[in-house]
Amino acid sequence: MNSPLFPALAEPTEREAIRFGERALSYRELAGVAGHLAGELAGVGRVAVWATNSIETCVGVVAALLAGVPAVPINPKIGERELAHILGDSAPGLVLSAPGTTLPDGFGDIRRVDVGLDVPATEPEKLPEPDAEAPALVIYTSGTTGAPKGVVLPRRSISSNLDSLAGAWEWTSEDVLVHGLPLFHVHGLGVGVLGPLRLGGTLHHLGAFSTAGIGAELGGAATMMFGVPTMYSRLVADAEADPELAKAIGRARLLVSGSAPLPASVHQRISDATGQLVVERYGMSETLMNCSVRAAGERRPGTVGPPVDGVDVRLVDESGAPIEGEDDETVGEIEVRGPNLFLEYLNRPDATAEAFRDGWFRTGDVATRGKDGYIRIVGRRAVDLIKTGGYKVGAGEVENALLEHPGVVEVAVTGEPDDDLGERIVAWVVPDGEAPSPQELADHVARLLTPHKRPRVVHYLEALPRNDMGKVMKKALSQRS
Ligand code: ATP
Ligand code: MG
Repeated sequence: MNSPLFPALAEPTEREAIRFGERALSYRELAGVAGHLAGELAGVGRVAVWATNSIETCVGVVAALLAGVPAVPINPKIGERELAHILGDSAPGLVLSAPGTTLPDGFGDIRRVDVGLDVPATEPEKLPEPDAEAPALVIYTSGTTGAPKGVVLPRRSISSNLDSLAGAWEWTSEDVLVHGLPLFHVHGLGVGVLGPLRLGGTLHHLGAFSTAGIGAELGGAATMMFGVPTMYSRLVADAEADPELAKAIGRARLLVSGSAPLPASVHQRISDATGQLVVERYGMSETLMNCSVRAAGERRPGTVGPPVDGVDVRLVDESGAPIEGEDDETVGEIEVRGPNLFLEYLNRPDATAEAFRDGWFRTGDVATRGKDGYIRIVGRRAVDLIKTGGYKVGAGEVENALLEHPGVVEVAVTGEPDDDLGERIVAWVVPDGEAPSPQELADHVARLLTPHKRPRVVHYLEALPRNDMGKVMKKALSQRS
């Protein structure tokens, strides 16, 4: 017999499972509501979930998981072209949504079923636990580097990865997690909703992220927080001005950051303001979480820690040969192997085949490895590895150095063709008040790092273009110059 993905739903208690503001469900209530909905999903090939930040989205996804019907969460801010792509690609048999939400016309005549929260008087029929290899979620990638691809994740990826994270973060049923992340990616949904539910713990979702909301929760029942780096930047800016908020954050058991690099400067400011050292982890749709700093481990800023238990991570050079050693210098592409890996990209056998080498998944991310296997992400192979004057320079390192300049609020570094250097380093800077000159910034980087890592061109912007996970859209920047 297959072991249940959610043991706490198989034997439900009155413990609070999920709360969104005033609305909450205990495990017993969730088992009833999601269990009955699951019964209605039998025989549907795939189910789309209109993933508003709501308790109904969580119930919809859990129902699909109980039924063994793959769920396709959809970003409710999606544009019509992308919606048409995802619906055409995933061909859902019906769409689950919160009552009262308006679905775009693009859904056409796909049957809509609203997720109700009225707890039925009767126990739902117990459905057999699906096979561990059965597709459970189809998560569309952020589209940072190309058209979004549908990542098909089996139940085994979810269960094994959540269990590894429980070990890394000493995460138990006693924990109350708070976050305000969107629910259509692996960060907010895969780990941020399914994590507490697998462990029998509690999620308090803010509906929308606010520093006040985080402060109230961490000052109350919440023990852990998840966020993307832009959230931590906002949080620390407010905490520096508000001792009560700083104190609330200081009480947390664990703060976890991911989805994009947490600038070392933000890590330091949080530590100064609250005494907390944020734990950074590295993951992606295709793999869930690969690396994380441990709750009990050393928290080195700018690193995502060693691989989580059960996951093999290696660095390879351009020929695919593994790079040994822990020098924190040699840059290589991260490849991953383990039970966390996805099954395939939906309808994309070409992309699936290209993504694997000898059973290893090629992440497209480049990194160095330091003492104790700590991984330091440099950026993405395609956009963040700049080949300039015979050197390979990681954009992330230059970004971190520029952020240490007091006149720089935000920055992104890219490469552009250069007749002399092959590529030259370009900095896109959001200045704090009066902008530091390009020369001053170049000197600053040359002083901190080495001269060949200095930006040759500096553009000044009011804000960086970011997607809804707070990731800088570097393609959009390059198209501006
Ligand atoms: P697409 O694959 O469509 O281009 P995407 O890769 O941004 O989009 P996701 O799967 O949502 O889509 O994001 C995974 C990527 O996010 C990783 O490959 C990595 O580049 C980045 N990432 C995640 N966590 C971190 C982190 N802690 N530090 C740096 N980068 C991170
Ligand atoms: Mg990707």
